[in-house]
Amino acid sequence: MSTVAACFAKSPLEAWIAKRMGASTPSLTRATIEQHQLKALQETVAWTRSHSSFCAHRLASFPVDFPRSLNEVPLLPLTTATDIAENTPGFLCVSQGEISRIVTLQSSGTSGAPKRIFFTAADQELALDFFAHGVAGVASSGDRMLIALPCEREGSVGYQLAKGIARSGVIPIAHGLSADPAETLAHMERERATGIIGLPVQMLALSLNESKVAANVMRGLRSIVLCSDHVPQSLVRTLRKRSNAEIFEHYGMTEMGLGGGVDCEAHMGYHLREADLYFEIVDPLTGEVLPDGELGEVVFTTLNRTGMPLIRYRTGDVSRFLPGPCGCGTMLRRLERVQSRIDSSIRLGTYGCVNIAMLDEALFAVPGLLDFTAKYFYGARPCLEVAFYAPRVAASHSHATLVNALYTLSPIRDAASCGEVELTVVRASAPFPATGAKRKIEVHERG
Ligand SMILES: [Zn+2]
Repeated sequence: MSTVAACFAKSPLEAWIAKRMGASTPSLTRATIEQHQLKALQETVAWTRSHSSFCAHRLASFPVDFPRSLNEVPLLPLTTATDIAENTPGFLCVSQGEISRIVTLQSSGTSGAPKRIFFTAADQELALDFFAHGVAGVASSGDRMLIALPCEREGSVGYQLAKGIARSGVIPIAHGLSADPAETLAHMERERATGIIGLPVQMLALSLNESKVAANVMRGLRSIVLCSDHVPQSLVRTLRKRSNAEIFEHYGMTEMGLGGGVDCEAHMGYHLREADLYFEIVDPLTGEVLPDGELGEVVFTTLNRTGMPLIRYRTGDVSRFLPGPCGCGTMLRRLERVQSRIDSSIRLGTYGCVNIAMLDEALFAVPGLLDFTAKYFYGARPCLEVAFYAPRVAASHSHATLVNALYTLSPIRDAASCGEVELTVVRASAPFPATGAKRKIEVHERG
């Protein structure tokens, strides 16, 4: 073990994955993991071919024992969100009576049909198992974790998370999305929360609250887990200044069965749920698998799901596998923090592209900014409109500060300076409503 590795506790996912694969922790190797994944891939391909009408058709020409090695996985066809939206019943591998949860998701496109993801009780149990073991890296038994995610309905992400982490002795405090920072902070104080899990922008609003309650609560936090959206590093820097809590990041989506991976104390990328999911990075244009270190689209295959397994599902997220070992000493792979979405960039005339992740980094570096929205209006006179919420920043300074921050992005500065794209910055008088959806630049036609 290297000296760096000794500085951080090893990710608890390694022992969990070893157990799931029937190995002991010291004997778990990449070869063991890959052997297990290959076997699970073969079973998933065989299961979908015999139970899913959509996959039976697509996989008909492959040999029965396919894939015979992980090198053959890239020969399997990719699955898109559109495939699911247009062929939902064809993906189902069990009868409707065996389905215990259906999640309807809006497609990321502006007018795309919604897609539905189906889970059996056993499929949902896999996520609970991941939450139960993943939480050990961010909290200890007896810690009190406030869940600032939708948790009212049975089967929702917060509900499942609460159920999962309770198995490890962490006490879940169901809260739901934060509608009002003061009310959320009061709940945290009443419940003596030692940790919180929620959306990055909502965690920022809590940390920047100037009340005495906020100061007490933030001082008492040991861990903050950011999830469900892009995590701007400028925002993380502010959280670090406002709290002594260790800040973790979770990566996941409904299609993965909620959980995908979580970083460890070394904060060197997400460790992945490798017993249940097989990840690849592909060139988004050609679909070719890319080597470790190269940026591309995250693609995953479910390894143990029976209701609606997904083979080589294109997430639309841009990231890469990080080469080399983690500072925590595990041999689990590391996926870099998701940088952006494939379909989220807006081209500003001839001056280049911007996306919500770039706006996030630039704008959340502005002291006192709590939130913003961005809309792009295309047409004869394109316009980028940014509305910001910064109630404690003097109106006389905030507009110029926001414009200056946006001008740190050269496509915006150049396109706005020469008049090719109009830049409008407006101050919002009230917080934007929380929806729980991933933030994005909205695109509209300019009337
Ligand atoms: Zn690690």
